[in-house]
Amino acid sequence: MFAKDLAKLIRTLATLEPDEAPIVSCYVDLTGRPQIDEQRARVLGHAVGAAWQEPFEEALDRIRAYIARCLRPDAKGLAIFARGSPNPMFLPIQSLQPLPDRLVVNSTPDMIDLLKFEDHSESYLAVRVGGNAANVFEIRLGAITRPIWNRYEAFRSRFVRQRARVTYGRGGPEDDVIEELTALLNALVESQAPEAVILEGSGKTGRRVAGALREGLAPSPRLRSPSVREVQAGLRTAAAEFEPAPDSMETLRRQLLLDSLAAAGTQATMDALMERQLDVVFMTPSYRPDPGWVCRACWNITVAPEKPPACSDCGKADVIGFDIREDMLRAAETLGCGVEQADDGGLVGRLGGVGALLRHSEPGVRCLEVV
Ligand SMILES: [Zn+2]
Repeated sequence: MFAKDLAKLIRTLATLEPDEAPIVSCYVDLTGRPQIDEQRARVLGHAVGAAWQEPFEEALDRIRAYIARCLRPDAKGLAIFARGSPNPMFLPIQSLQPLPDRLVVNSTPDMIDLLKFEDHSESYLAVRVGGNAANVFEIRLGAITRPIWNRYEAFRSRFVRQRARVTYGRGGPEDDVIEELTALLNALVESQAPEAVILEGSGKTGRRVAGALREGLAPSPRLRSPSVREVQAGLRTAAAEFEPAPDSMETLRRQLLLDSLAAAGTQATMDALMERQLDVVFMTPSYRPDPGWVCRACWNITVAPEKPPACSDCGKADVIGFDIREDMLRAAETLGCGVEQADDGGLVGRLGGVGALLRHSEPGVRCLEVV
């Protein structure tokens, strides 16, 4: 029953035309607390903008009501695709397998997590090197989605998620950028066991990145299979939708809505800093966060007005305070990322005075010599 419903849902979502109201894609892990991430919903509320505000709230209210009343006792994962007025839509599916918590707002549905359930769904990783940036994408295709990928160019980006964007100067990437990309790829290969890793890029930089990546990755015997060529041929049109906006603040807003390469607020920005994910930090002039407290045994960080009696992670009492604002600015300089001043009354001000664009979305990727 689930497989039939899933195939129907995927087909509907994969070719749904954008409307004036956004689609809220909501995934809930029902093995934890069955509710949407309200903190994330608040961030989205600040980022959606005036035109999407009302339909967004309307969709969210319907999702909350559904979760309160309609869950099956045996369900472990829930995915809902909802749109508010003027053309409301509500498509829920409950599964016996858990799903990761995720809340995304966009003109099109965010389907990648749903596609993991598709029978024979294949996952690919693609690195596109071009101009002054390398982009890493995750692509999912299967029996239901592959025909759509091949036939309808306009819908290709629905099967793609951006996992990283690393920019560099005109001289090409420095060694540490290439190391970071290799570490990211290795982590993604380990967690996703993709069908193939596709390297795309011309010129000296492309060859250099490809060479470094191939060194660290086992060569895939299927790299020349027809399906890889299909994926490669469609990648260009799909990837075009993930190009950053002309202005960095608008890029931040879009990445927040997509739950992708962005962090909002002190805790999320600190976490991204610890994981070496930071690319650009946005800070308002009046940003004065509570002090940070770092555990000297396990390096766990807490943000709190008063010194905690013990580390919330390992329980040891060896906790020392530090100035979060100063530390963020210092780390930004060490990591070579940009710092931009944001307005107190703008998006970053409403998010707590600080936010960041991230280089990659994989928290496990981290160079050990830092900290
Ligand atoms: Zn600790």
